[in-house]
Amino acid sequence: MTTIGSRTMQIDINLSKCEGHGLCEQLAPQVFGLDDEGYVFLKVDQPIPAELEEAAAAGARVCPVAALRVLR
Ligand code: SF4
Repeated sequence: MTTIGSRTMQIDINLSKCEGHGLCEQLAPQVFGLDDEGYVFLKVDQPIPAELEEAAAAGARVCPVAALRVLR
């Protein structure tokens, strides 16, 4: 497989930290959603599509309990 560019961003979710505040979803609704129990899930496949990388990173940054980690 040939990889071109840097389309390798992933979001690591630590569900044991998530408290369901929903700030990630408010900031980046294209990337993050909340399930029926109020926990975060990714709406897109990994790696994060290039056009959503900025939104995903912003959503991860806003999490007050650091449940979302950007991996590159
Ligand atoms: S902002 Fe953090 S704590 Fe809130 S739903 Fe998103 S991942 Fe969970």
